[in-house]
Amino acid sequence: MPLLRLAIIAAGLWLAIGIVRRIMRAGAAPKTDLSYGGKMVNCEVCGVYLPEREAISVGDGKFRCDKH
Ligand SMILES: [Zn+2]
Repeated sequence: MPLLRLAIIAAGLWLAIGIVRRIMRAGAAPKTDLSYGGKMVNCEVCGVYLPEREAISVGDGKFRCDKH
């Protein structure tokens, strides 16, 4: 039955394309997260990186996270 085989191949290809797209989207997600919110700064106490708008400025161009 060539038609059945063709249908199975088509379904397999459709699934494979779906998986590849999902992997590519997952790989691209951290990049968009980093560019979102603009400038990243790091806490001078623990060194954790956070968006500048979420950081607390302690002056002299230095920032701290909300835990310090
Ligand atoms: Zn900190």
